[in-house]
Amino acid sequence: MKRIVIVPDGVGDWPLKELGNKTPLQAASKPNLDDLSRHSILGTLKTCPDGMYPGSDVCGLSLMGYDPKCVYTGRAPLEAANIGIVLKPGELAFRCNLVSEEKGVLTDYSADHITTEEAQILIEELQKNLGNNLISFHTGKMYRHIMCYKRAVDIDCTTDQPHDFQGTPFASHWPSGKGSEILIDLTNESKKILTNHPINQKRLKAGKKPANMIWLWGGGPAPKLEHFETRYGIKGGVISAVDLLNGLGRYLGWEIISVPGATGYFDTDYQAKGRFAIEALKRLDLVFVHVEATDEAGHMGNVKEKIRAIENIDKFIVGPIVERLKEEKEWRLFVAPDHYTPIVKKTHVAEPVPFIFAGSDLPFCCSERPYTEPDSKATGIALDRGYELMLRLVKGWQHYEHG
Ligand SMILES: [Zn+2]
Repeated sequence: MKRIVIVPDGVGDWPLKELGNKTPLQAASKPNLDDLSRHSILGTLKTCPDGMYPGSDVCGLSLMGYDPKCVYTGRAPLEAANIGIVLKPGELAFRCNLVSEEKGVLTDYSADHITTEEAQILIEELQKNLGNNLISFHTGKMYRHIMCYKRAVDIDCTTDQPHDFQGTPFASHWPSGKGSEILIDLTNESKKILTNHPINQKRLKAGKKPANMIWLWGGGPAPKLEHFETRYGIKGGVISAVDLLNGLGRYLGWEIISVPGATGYFDTDYQAKGRFAIEALKRLDLVFVHVEATDEAGHMGNVKEKIRAIENIDKFIVGPIVERLKEEKEWRLFVAPDHYTPIVKKTHVAEPVPFIFAGSDLPFCCSERPYTEPDSKATGIALDRGYELMLRLVKGWQHYEHG
């Protein structure tokens, strides 16, 4: 039995005036998705449990077959995994943004989208000056880095996400709770180390904002994730250009399939993703294919790019993969985004997502509806537990219903 998951990140959207009150999914030309949807089960899936933030981490865990309420411990531990840091019991990882500050105001959560090359030098400088047997700094990508803390019992505090308070005084967003002074001290110390660093002098001369401070947030211990093969009895792999999803894959024991030309952006090589997924199916039981471009377009409020990304996913990923799966005697597939990223909101929204569940052994089929948000609601098939879809993908739609 071969199984595929296709995740057009953030594809869910709301009707738009400029599209004649259609959503991007309704407006896009996507013959493969629509054909698949018409001959399969169509419904909605609640990927984000009540009270949680609909991030790609929480919603991604649901799609991968895990209940975020039981296993989620924070975003940073997952990102850390993808740069090779697997936390031991009793250790914490924090996201360490390189940020720009001016006179106490956080002016840029991304330090003007600093490059990884520049960032690496600054993070190494922080490690040299602030690293010790408890604290270590690790370079990630661009402005996104990791600070590890080895004695978890010292810290139990809440932190604010810097992209939520850009343009305001950061002193009103300091971490609070047990051990928060450790994070605040590191932040203040980082300012002294980074402000006059040659990299920042160069950036200022070039008219760019300096990376003159860090911001620590999203900390937590290793997630409580059982290996996928232990839990579901089959071997999986993931194709994604996003650190977070690859990090999740690592914790699950999935193969991280790297695809040359996969960028996580509009210029991503869709064809290569489709090809590599088909290739990986030869050795794996399940391949999870994630495309970020639809989410990026949502964050930018760019309707045209969102529609183009949907059409590319349809043509270069869904089309070839479905064609290949149909050569198998037994196969199953689901298509579902992790969350909505509505163009008008430019951010994630926790709303049940439209899904297609297809395969060689459907108990019933033929929704006779295209793959759109309103159509997915109209079928009345609504799964409340996000991890259920993976369970059904592994065991069969019916099998699950009978316990
Ligand atoms: Zn997003």
